[in-house]
Amino acid sequence: MLERIRIVLIGTSHPGNIGGTARAMHNMGLTDLALVAPRCEPLTADTVSRASGADALVHGAHTVETLEEAVADCTLVVGASARSRTLPWPMITPRALGERLPEELAAPESRVALVFGREDSGLTNAELQRCHAHVHIPTNPDFSSLNLAAAVQVLAYECRLAWLDHQADEPQAPAEQPLASHEELEHYFAHLERTLVAIGFHDPATPRQLMARLRRFTLRARPERMELNILRGILSYTERLVPRREDD
Ligand code: SAH
Repeated sequence: MLERIRIVLIGTSHPGNIGGTARAMHNMGLTDLALVAPRCEPLTADTVSRASGADALVHGAHTVETLEEAVADCTLVVGASARSRTLPWPMITPRALGERLPEELAAPESRVALVFGREDSGLTNAELQRCHAHVHIPTNPDFSSLNLAAAVQVLAYECRLAWLDHQADEPQAPAEQPLASHEELEHYFAHLERTLVAIGFHDPATPRQLMARLRRFTLRARPERMELNILRGILSYTERLVPRREDD
């Protein structure tokens, strides 16, 4: 189970935090680290010193340019956020997140991503809206932002606690139908937006958070791959009914 939990760091600017994250992960038995567009050299003397022997995780980390690439194969994406944002999103506590993991990861192809933001500005709204849920570590409201590697440590610990608890449980039957992956969901959202524009329902010039609201609704439903295929089929039939504009 633990090997299918990916820690994703976006735009990290201090190598020490990458080292600290590797140490936190290795302590808790996590192995899968992805770095999205780091704003520093990931492997420096600071990294190695803060990793305290866990720098193999940094050597094995995947470095990619976008969040989409980092989580394309994930069936659950959770964003760690120090504060609440404009459009409220489903929230989960660190403990509840851990408790959900054994079931989320029952199917062998399922993967969970925990996404962490930049030291100075956290995660953008667009990044947060790509997550099924947000997790907030309860902290002093007057001083709520944890050091990045410390935030990773807290959530990695919850993963380990849940995994230890799960060792004693009966094995669970995986869900019959696989859930849609992040990549499949993103293809669906792009298709949906294209169709809504084509039928004149959505004007990207005055978005009024339409796509964000549809994202939130769809992500909350946790669609299976099969269900998403049905929705995409409906979109394709709808597109065929729309008369082509002259300038197309
Ligand atoms: N100043 C930034 C916080 C950056 S801390 C802001 O206001 O958004 C770097 C990252 O650590 C955050 O993006 C988040 O992923 C994680 N983090 C820090 N404190 C957290 C908390 N209390 N709960 C959940 N994640 C937290």
